[in-house]
Amino acid sequence: MDRGRAGGAGAGFDFKPKILGFLCNWCCYAGADLCGVSRFQYPPYIRIIRLMCSGRVDLAFVLRAFWNGADGVFIGGCWPGECHYVTEGNYDALAMVHLGKRLLERIGVNPQRLRIEWVSASEGIRFAEVMNDFGSRLKAMGPLGKTEGVESSELKSRLEGLMKVVPYINLTQKERLASHLRGDGQYESLFTAEEVDRLFREMPCYYIDPDSCQACMICLRRCPAEAIDGGKDRIHVIEQDRCIRCGTCMEACPPRFNAVRRIVGAPAPPPPPEAARTLARKGRAR
Ligand code: SF4
Ligand code: SF4
Repeated sequence: MDRGRAGGAGAGFDFKPKILGFLCNWCCYAGADLCGVSRFQYPPYIRIIRLMCSGRVDLAFVLRAFWNGADGVFIGGCWPGECHYVTEGNYDALAMVHLGKRLLERIGVNPQRLRIEWVSASEGIRFAEVMNDFGSRLKAMGPLGKTEGVESSELKSRLEGLMKVVPYINLTQKERLASHLRGDGQYESLFTAEEVDRLFREMPCYYIDPDSCQACMICLRRCPAEAIDGGKDRIHVIEQDRCIRCGTCMEACPPRFNAVRRIVGAPAPPPPPEAARTLARKGRAR
């Protein structure tokens, strides 16, 4: 039995949570370094990834970390106003974390498992305090999924589903994710649960009408996700699992063909069978 994974709420003394930390190079990583040099104690079970800016952390990284078995994800950046880049990436990270918490809630994961904090290069002791606090909270929460009452396989499948729509979420929420609000309270209301529900309700899928497609291959060349299967004289088909729902194919399809449909509130119809995908040109049999 894996002693590190044993326990949970109420039996947590033996449980060592896996924490993945994304730390910005200039502040939090330097703070962590100072913490180590100063021999301040913090949990040994945090694994650190150093990034140049906390703003580099994408929602997909966070979800992938949980999918890979992290019990908690930590993002450490510079204090607001002290980001080393004019882009002030720490605000982007803050907005992303607030959205990430809403999404985690939606799939039944305790949002407290995702945490962002500001630590400057001179705050080695603060890094130790934050990590000790996060570590003990995660210990109390227990292993991912266990205290949430969700089976590991079910949780993985929910995370996979969410990971697939991250590009769409990033695309549609681009402006909000780039909000630079002053005050944490404003971030709390940046993404409400109702808005996140609506986001999923209104999420479109795209479908190529086999009766209209003329196999001109324009959409295939323009699709940024390589989600369209087609070729010369072949009716094109969208691979729904790869599609990031950007709508580029719909814009690219020439109006005289108008073959791409945008569907909301229902799944895309199944693609035509392989045998029926050869395009019948005038004067030629299909
Ligand atoms: S919406 Fe169209 S262009 Fe965009 S990823 Fe899906 S298939 Fe490709
Ligand atoms: S652009 Fe339109 S007509 Fe051309 S291959 Fe794509 S769906 Fe078919």
